[in-house]
Amino acid sequence: MENQVLVVGAGAAGLWAAARAAEAGAHVTLLEKTPRTGTKVLASGGTRCNLTTTLGAQAAGQLFGQKGSRFLRHALRVLSPLELRRQFEVMGVPTVEAPLDKVFPQSNRARDVRDALEARTLRAGVKLHVDCAVRAVHAVSGGWKLSMDNGKSLSAERLILCPGGKSYARTGSTGDGYGWLADLDLPLVEPVPALVPLTSPDPWVQELSGVSLQAGELRLYDPDGKLCSKRSRPVLFTHRGLSGPGVLDVSVAVARAKAAGEARMFEVRLDLQPGTTREELVRKLREAGSGKGSRRLQSYLPDPLPRRLLAAALRQAGSPEEDPLISGMTKDQRHRFIEAIKGLSIPIDGTLGFDRAEVTAGGLDVACVDSGSMAVRGREGLFVCGELLDLDGPIGGLNFQAAFSTAELAGQAAARKP
Ligand SMILES: Cc1cc2nc3c(=O)[nH]c(=O)nc-3n(C[C@H](O)[C@H](O)[C@H](O)COP(=O)(O)OP(=O)(O)OC[C@H]3O[C@@H](n4cnc5c(N)ncnc54)[C@H](O)[C@@H]3O)c2cc1C
Repeated sequence: MENQVLVVGAGAAGLWAAARAAEAGAHVTLLEKTPRTGTKVLASGGTRCNLTTTLGAQAAGQLFGQKGSRFLRHALRVLSPLELRRQFEVMGVPTVEAPLDKVFPQSNRARDVRDALEARTLRAGVKLHVDCAVRAVHAVSGGWKLSMDNGKSLSAERLILCPGGKSYARTGSTGDGYGWLADLDLPLVEPVPALVPLTSPDPWVQELSGVSLQAGELRLYDPDGKLCSKRSRPVLFTHRGLSGPGVLDVSVAVARAKAAGEARMFEVRLDLQPGTTREELVRKLREAGSGKGSRRLQSYLPDPLPRRLLAAALRQAGSPEEDPLISGMTKDQRHRFIEAIKGLSIPIDGTLGFDRAEVTAGGLDVACVDSGSMAVRGREGLFVCGELLDLDGPIGGLNFQAAFSTAELAGQAAARKP
């Protein structure tokens, strides 16, 4: 049969690419290792699936760093966040906007997103084989050949690889694609966990488990004291260290350094009163301290803090009391306290690794991929999309958007006859 396209991996990228290639006229076979499609879609966004962002194409692209943003420019123009929402609406999944630029299905059910993707794929005529693990990828004369675990093989002129990364391996994404890239002699940027909780060895941090900070500002410093990144998003203390969107967004720098053998600590500094400057705090506390009555510190903070967090800041400032009277604090104590709440210092010794990472950073170096079609340069008929590419964005629907947009280009291009 003519115009055959093979697609490996039925996650977000594979389902989208297969449907688009079939809709463009190709005969498409989609191979999935696990018994079902879209397992990560089902697990995503706390089973609500934050499928894209309210940001425009350009602003969304910029969140992938300089290289990623340049690479994604065309893909995000062709399938922008707005166009993706429109297409989901047509597929019977209207969407709604949520805080932090997020977009969810109106039903709040990730299953609706997965089901709509699968239904579109089947409606387009894609032959879907689940429980069908690809073991090896070979370049053969005139195209590509896949060897399967079941001993069978399949060949086609064109092949789209979308087996994902290696985070949350229980969803089926076990990093198989990296071995195939190596076998094909393609350049791989070392995969590391991203959007992953950070660990802290200090018991006082772990004792704050369950405390959350909705309006904090977080800065991550490397072991040499250099600022790596900053983020103003919610932070959560856990029994191992820190999590929450703000923490996940900056975590990849720690993962990269650890993968490179860095043994020293990173440091997170949390601004617990981001809406108030140091000078304003100095003035407020000085005025409160000179007044009459029993003024407790807590009641003078513009953003009230959870009691345990206030106590931790006071301990870091060297105060013997949990909620002292302001009038009883010396100027030096007030100064140290303000330093602690404007930059609560938390030592960081690592991440929770691939098991708890929402995405994998690293993958196929995008320098060898044509950003207009996702075709791998110098490998006629081979396309790569989704998380196997060296692309990772922050929390907020950006990673699905990148998977869908790159899959849109790969599906369209693979369906075109060379
Ligand atoms: C818990 C969790 C929550 C998340 N929440 C969000 C969110 O709300 N919003 C967001 O934007 N992103 C979210 N992400 C990230 C998002 O899920 C991924 O970026 C996205 O799924 C990547 O899509 P993909 O198709 O490239 O890879 P995947 O979704 O990983 O799909 C790869 C598919 O390939 C299959 N496969 C692997 N190897 C083989 C093989 N050898 N043969 C055949 N098939 C194979 C796998 O079984 C899998 O089905 C979340 C991730 C996790 C883990």
